Amino acid sequence: MTETLHEGLRDGATMGFQTEVSKLLHLMIHSLYSNQEIFLRELVSNAADATDKLRFAALDQPQLLEQDSDLGIWIDVDEPTHTIRVRDNGIGMSREEIVSNLGTIARSGTAEFMRHLSGDQQKDAHLIGQFGVGFYSAFVVAESVDVYSRRAGLAPDQGVFWSSRGEGEFTVAQVDRAARGTEIVLHLREDAHDFADAYRLRSIIHKYAEHIGVPVRMLQQAKAEGESADYEVINQASALWTRPRNEIEDAEYIAFYKHVAHDFSDPLSWSHNKVEGKLEYTSLLYVPGKAPYDLFNREAPKGLKLYVQRVFIMDQAEQFLPLYLRFIKGVIDSNDLPLNVSREILQSSPSIEAMRAALTKRVLDMLSKLAESDAEKYASFWSTFGAVLKEGVVEDHSNQEKLASLFRFVSSRHIDAGQATSLDAYIERMPAEQKGIYYVTAESVQAGVKSPHMEIFRKKDVEVLVMHERIDEWMMSWLHEYRGKKFIHVGKGDLDLGDTPAAEELKAQAEQHASLIERLRKTLGEQVAEVKVSGRLIDSPACLVVAEGEIGLATRQILEAAGQKLPDTKPSMEINLEHALIRRMEQESDEERFAALASVLYGQAALADGIQLRDPSDFVAHLNQLLAQLPV
Ligand code: ADP
Ligand code: MG
Repeated sequence: MTETLHEGLRDGATMGFQTEVSKLLHLMIHSLYSNQEIFLRELVSNAADATDKLRFAALDQPQLLEQDSDLGIWIDVDEPTHTIRVRDNGIGMSREEIVSNLGTIARSGTAEFMRHLSGDQQKDAHLIGQFGVGFYSAFVVAESVDVYSRRAGLAPDQGVFWSSRGEGEFTVAQVDRAARGTEIVLHLREDAHDFADAYRLRSIIHKYAEHIGVPVRMLQQAKAEGESADYEVINQASALWTRPRNEIEDAEYIAFYKHVAHDFSDPLSWSHNKVEGKLEYTSLLYVPGKAPYDLFNREAPKGLKLYVQRVFIMDQAEQFLPLYLRFIKGVIDSNDLPLNVSREILQSSPSIEAMRAALTKRVLDMLSKLAESDAEKYASFWSTFGAVLKEGVVEDHSNQEKLASLFRFVSSRHIDAGQATSLDAYIERMPAEQKGIYYVTAESVQAGVKSPHMEIFRKKDVEVLVMHERIDEWMMSWLHEYRGKKFIHVGKGDLDLGDTPAAEELKAQAEQHASLIERLRKTLGEQVAEVKVSGRLIDSPACLVVAEGEIGLATRQILEAAGQKLPDTKPSMEINLEHALIRRMEQESDEERFAALASVLYGQAALADGIQLRDPSDFVAHLNQLLAQLPV
């Protein structure tokens, strides 16, 4: 058969793969060694996509179906020659398309992909699908791959043949091809000969392609001798989401997830719903178990697979969920949208708005349920996706409270246990008279816990949430209360712990020590807005405090370094009158030494707040000047 085809080839040409493809092929063959069977999932998935694309194109151009509208996939295996054929009657490819689809990697993500390969087979295998390099997985089992294809709508003499050994180059030629669609022939390499086994292929299809929407057919298992075998459908070929929930097993949901999400690991949770009424649609949404490599790239591809009345319309329909839920995978099948719906229509349709609000709520409810039913899984979700979910506070005001109920924070009470607390649990523990939910923001848990701002809280055993992620300070500037309790930053504004020295008392103390305060203010000059007596310090001599609602000093430095212009406000310095250093300074008559002490006082308060000193050498010089005066 190959011979005759070779005779029919015209206009042959040999071309080199794009460099990335060659590298990728090499890596893939080695990294997928323990996961060889995924080649079949990838090829079937491409064939299914091709039938989806044809069905969609035929909405406008029915002639593309050429009297053959029973779309499907056929798999043949020939044990003696160790070949597998995967054939579809989908959209097919023209010569240009085959060269560009199979010879280059069009996606810009490829370089990223290469960078993310870890050398760990499991992890690397997990990445392959995400980057749309699925076709090349054929070379994991095949020493050479032949592709025959004809694009729907082109004449039979416009077929195209593509062949490669996966070693840097491929051949293309024109060939007669009566049937529309694509056929992929794998000549198995020796160590993969045992894939040429119909029984085994069936079981792989069951595992990965049970619920793709088109029938996959294989020849019936051997019958009585001499009888000719027919093709039979071996998958359910009913889109999973169209079946009633109670008839679907977990294993089926999980397998379907792997198909839609191109993921190898299990999802953490899913939610399958049919909505009837003004808007009719079915959604099947999954929370993945692992983060994609580009989770924090807000431009990265995201979104649900969109179907309209079971016809595939597009991948990555991103209008159905807010950006902060970009990690959610799944399918939405609408009964109301027009079949010719475009991204532009999606962007401006009021019914999409309504669906988006409903789907958002579904996801948040699914997460609440997960939190209630499986603390361990929820903890894993939170550590993987929590920082993304926090973006929702800013993006989605209407769901702030619900979102906050899903958040988990380190608590000053449970630092060692390492387990995080919910706001509800915090409120439950909180004494009735407590003014609000106390929190500190810092670069790390350690820095937060040891911050001078925490001293009085530690002494009085008041629980404080330690927020140590970059996004926290920004998020908290939008989140003002939860269940009617105010959020209070321990290092901002005036402190009122109920029984801490009241404002008048501090004022009286300030009057008593007016000359010290005035001297400090003069010496520190522009660096501080004010010098005040502190009610929050126990062990430290001084700390810096910004006004309530203002951004913290460390965050300010980060933003300024990134070129942002911020209003020019200064922190106040609070001093601890009980501290030996402050008492010592009060006695200091030598102005030069006082200045050195003041500089060191300010410097240490800044360092404790996690900020960089404007003039570190000045600080060091003053410190050394003082150390040198120590008696021997
Ligand atoms: P992806 O499927 O993620 O795009 P693949 O490497 O699996 O990446 O496939 C690359 C491209 O090759 C596909 O996007 C598609 O354009 C084309 N292709 C692969 N298989 C087929 C097929 N059976 N029919 C038509 N086009 C195909
Ligand atoms: Mg693919």
